[in-house]
Order: sequence, then C-alpha cells, then structure tokens
Amino acid sequence: MDLMHVAYTKWGVTSVNISSTTNHPTNKARSRHSKRMAFDINYINGIHVTNNPNSPIYSIEDGLIYSVIMDDSLNAAQWLEAYGPTFQSRWVNGVSTEWPSVGPQHQNHIHISLDGN
Ligand SMILES: [Zn+2]
Repeated sequence: MDLMHVAYTKWGVTSVNISSTTNHPTNKARSRHSKRMAFDINYINGIHVTNNPNSPIYSIEDGLIYSVIMDDSLNAAQWLEAYGPTFQSRWVNGVSTEWPSVGPQHQNHIHISLDGN
C-alpha cells in the first residue's frame, strides 16, 4: 500500500495500532465507523498518540495524516476525514480542507475515513 510506504520512508512509521474500526464508542450514529468506513490509530511505533510536543512521535502524527492526504491510492478511493491531535483535514468538494472543529475529540488518536457508503 502506497500509504504505508510513504509513511515509512518519509516519516519513519514502522508500526501502527488500530484501536477501533466499527466498534467506536462515541458518536455512533453520525460516525463513519458505524458505516464500516473508518478506523482509528492510537499507537504509532509503540508510542501512544498525544498532543504533547515532546513526544517522539509528535511530528510523525502529522506526517501520517499528510501521508493519507497525499496518497494517490487513497485519493482514488477518496479519503474523507483525516483527523489527529494537531491537524484535521476533510475532503470537501474535491479539496483538502482544514477542519479544526473536530480537534478536541482527536487529541489521543488519529481518525481516518473513506467516502462512500
Ligand atoms: Zn474515529
């Protein structure tokens, strides 16, 4: 998968832990999780996702989100949401758009979803 290749070569991501797929505990009705179109990452390289700038994965967290946004294969499949502690982006009318209103709910994990049903 191009996404993980870019995440590894550009940002040094060697492992991620998927903490949630369809079993997301909150926002169930509105969430892409309940449509089986989203997943959350809570650990990168064995370190918990955080908003602490001193964390060794702090910049990698944004790198992983950028990897999603820039990934050709995911663009073809149409990613919809890429949210993390310091950067949140949503695909709106064909354009990657900053979406800071969801920041408070994504301080300890990265949320990725795809468009479609
Ligand atoms: Zn999520």
